[in-house]
Amino acid sequence: MKAVVFHGPYEVSVDEVEKPRIEAPQDVLLRVTTTCICGSDLHMYEGRTAAESGLVFGHENLGIIEEVGEGVTSLKPGQRVVIPFNVACGFCRNCRAGKTAFCETVNPGFAGGAYGYVAMGPYPGGQAEYLRVPYADFNCVPLPPGEEHEADFALLADIFSTGYHATELAGVQPGETVAVFGAGPVGLMAAYSAMLKGAARVFVVDRVKSRLDLVEQMGATPIDYTVDDPIQQIKDALGDVGVDRGIDAVGYQATVPAGQEQPALVLNQLVETVRPTGSIGTVGLYVPTDPGAPDQDSAKGFLLFNIGRFFEKGLRMGTGQTDAKRYAHQLRDMIIAGKAKPSFVVSQELPLMSAPDAYARFDKREPGYSKVLLHPQQ
Ligand code: NAD
Ligand code: ZN
Ligand code: ZN
Repeated sequence: MKAVVFHGPYEVSVDEVEKPRIEAPQDVLLRVTTTCICGSDLHMYEGRTAAESGLVFGHENLGIIEEVGEGVTSLKPGQRVVIPFNVACGFCRNCRAGKTAFCETVNPGFAGGAYGYVAMGPYPGGQAEYLRVPYADFNCVPLPPGEEHEADFALLADIFSTGYHATELAGVQPGETVAVFGAGPVGLMAAYSAMLKGAARVFVVDRVKSRLDLVEQMGATPIDYTVDDPIQQIKDALGDVGVDRGIDAVGYQATVPAGQEQPALVLNQLVETVRPTGSIGTVGLYVPTDPGAPDQDSAKGFLLFNIGRFFEKGLRMGTGQTDAKRYAHQLRDMIIAGKAKPSFVVSQELPLMSAPDAYARFDKREPGYSKVLLHPQQ
């Protein structure tokens, strides 16, 4: 079958690889109809991780069940399902508590499992014609038949769930004010989720014009950090000492002003942007992605975070990978009911063969490349 294969920094190609097959009774084989390129793939694409040549990318997958293992009870061939990016067992301590990003069975002692991702278990990705889904009764979220809402549902695999998770980590309540740093797909979905929850005002900080245009379109307030200090811009617009809740949807790869070595820039900006006793949700990645990297503090996750100001203001913060499975059913039902339409972030829908070009353009944050969906069956 055809799949998007990583060969080294800035190098992916669509290659012929072995088709996956059922390996355990709980598996299903999925014929992938939609799979997305994610900002998280760029950590590997840009060579900032220990991802090895030959890895098939793709953790945001939707498709039709082709074949079921003999132990699968709730799924049938022909059924359309979306696959939240966490590979999880459904029965360990963390899965039972809904913390499916921290499954103790699939990748013990580490941050759970994921398809097509370095250090997240032996699970090839779904930017391919077929995908093996383990513990399928738990990991497949059933969808209505047909093709309706295909792009909306595909975003349940990661970014809609992650945006929503960010608002949960931050504790966003109706009527509150929220600042989101990063207008990538994840930041846009976080802002959208805050608005779905009834936030009174939502600010989104970035510098990419086409992304800030989407912020405006959804009814939130765009803040261009290249124009002026984003913290001051938000406080001026708000007429207050700070917002109730802050969200980091950038992570360690934040663009920092020239000459400033400050990989925790966005976290420190959020500490200043949120009012005393407010709270922060961090979904932007800060994990040490390359255990074999040279002895650099930032590669190990040691960053200059202003814990003094954080303490002084009595702030709280939630962090981590998204328990995508936890929200997928409710968010799916909001899409079906017409209450949510996250696909407004989707900018391209392309055949799998276009993946190398799409990676290069998405990586450069080219204007108009906000979220790319690939269709392996086209
Ligand atoms: P992205 O790279 O497309 O978006 C990041 C955005 O941040 C870009 O638009 C960029 O211009 C902007 N940015 C850069 N520096 C900034 C700064 N100083 N201030 C404000 N904005 C700045 O990626 P994405 O797909 O939106 O993902 C965002 C982050 O979320 C990544 O780190 C990704 O790995 C992470 N992520 C986490 C989870 C999770 O489960 N926690 C899931 C998906 C993605
Ligand atoms: Zn993703
Ligand atoms: Zn588990």
